[in-house]
Amino acid sequence: MPELPEVECLVRHLNRHLPAEALRKISITSPRHLRREEGKPEKWGSDLRGCRLDRFSRRGKFWIMFWKPGSGRGNHPDPQPVVGHLGMTGRLFFHRERSGSPTDGAVFKHTAAIFDFGSSRLVFTDPRRFGMLTRNADVLKSLGPDPMDADWCSMTWPDRITGSSRAIKVTLMDQSAVAGLGNIYASEVLHQAMIHPAAACKNLTPDDWHRLHHCIPDVIQKAVGIGDSLSLDFSGLSSVDRLFYYGTREGSSDDGEVFRVYDREGEPCPRCGAPIQRMIQAQRSTFFCPACQPLP
Ligand SMILES: [Zn+2]
Repeated sequence: MPELPEVECLVRHLNRHLPAEALRKISITSPRHLRREEGKPEKWGSDLRGCRLDRFSRRGKFWIMFWKPGSGRGNHPDPQPVVGHLGMTGRLFFHRERSGSPTDGAVFKHTAAIFDFGSSRLVFTDPRRFGMLTRNADVLKSLGPDPMDADWCSMTWPDRITGSSRAIKVTLMDQSAVAGLGNIYASEVLHQAMIHPAAACKNLTPDDWHRLHHCIPDVIQKAVGIGDSLSLDFSGLSSVDRLFYYGTREGSSDDGEVFRVYDREGEPCPRCGAPIQRMIQAQRSTFFCPACQPLP
């Protein structure tokens, strides 16, 4: 499942390939990807026709596209946002027919929406259909602070989090507490911060919270740096699809991302050498080092 680093790398990649042409039309091929209040799928986004795709942005695991008025009628004076989420298996990529290219003439499976620019298309595919699309940017209001925001440094942990009896790993995956962490990076952050994933928030010391505050952006920024350095397969058309966007292109010599604990049960901890353990928390696998991350 894509988390903050994967979505950040995706947004950076898409921003390098913005089409010069105006939007011709949007085809919603999976109406269930729209929220209920979005109106008829066949009319969805029809007012954006003639607009230009100005840029992509990100908040937590959501991507946001901003549309600028073109010369056509019915356009808006301000850039209009369209917000989306990749869910578990969503992909978003530009496709341009090029003769001889592996995607030439490709018909993409599990398409949720297609934004047609004439010579290129922005394709949103989602086989497991947990993703979404909306014109209502209010969905972003419930998100907690984003670790890549400039004001992350001045963030303080609210009492409702530090006083809670919930396990810290479950809290880190709560998007209203921190925007963007999922199962993989919550495990990675807790190993770096040397905190047991099952520790109740209320049992953590001020020093624990301080380390977490620093380790979260550190782990995230390193992952983004690795993702940016790889030749990624954003369309998912190659057979090598190891960890989503960190699945490297087929035949590439990239090593990809190496995790500290995630999916490494029984392997030695990179810090102390003790075997990494796996436990189940909230129906998800958690990986940790029992020596480096003792229960408080
Ligand atoms: Zn260890």
